[in-house]
Amino acid sequence: VAEQALLYACRHDSLSGALSRAYLTETAMRDLALARRHGRPLAVAMLDIDHFKIINDRHGHDVGDAAIRALAATCGHALRGSDYLGRIGGEEFVCVMPETDAAEALACAERIRALVEALRVPAEGGPVRFTVSLGVGVLGAGHADWEALLHDADQALYRAKSGGRNRVVLAAQPQRTLQ
Ligand code: GH3
Ligand code: MG
Ligand code: MG
Repeated sequence: VAEQALLYACRHDSLSGALSRAYLTETAMRDLALARRHGRPLAVAMLDIDHFKIINDRHGHDVGDAAIRALAATCGHALRGSDYLGRIGGEEFVCVMPETDAAEALACAERIRALVEALRVPAEGGPVRFTVSLGVGVLGAGHADWEALLHDADQALYRAKSGGRNRVVLAAQPQRTLQ
């Protein structure tokens, strides 16, 4: 039992309950290899809370932590049973969606965006709201590996931020390098 508890603790982030970065990477690399081998689609959404520093500064770190937990729970509700969520940074998460094409991934990302916008986190001065930006990447022939796919989702997330935040952006498909 102790061994199982230790394994669980290694694989999960204690604040949000999402997968740890290391375990997310391990699992995603395996799913990516399977998708490639069977010619199946696979999508990822990278998300980051908008202006999170302001939430921490205005309402305190505990409210910030509660926002992170609420975000992870919301993603959990929005995702399919075969999808999973990992915490890759402070307030940055990645959703991995096997068997999911661009249209389905965009719909899922938009669902998460709208659900988060409707969330209210209890705080002393009254309920706090926040938004997220999301970048969606879909596995294509031009992706060398998991890191390349993640990089594309990150670029799309950057565009969602610079485009005004609280939005979803789909990454452009990388070109296959001609030998
Ligand atoms: P942007 O819209 O550009 O993402 O703005 P931002 O303020 O969210 O900017 P950034 O992503 O750089 O800020 C992340 C902040 O998240 C900074 C850090 O203090 C806070 N943070 C990181 N981890 C945690 C955590 O576990 N709990 C809390 N409460 N805050 C955290
Ligand atoms: Mg942020
Ligand atoms: Mg961030």
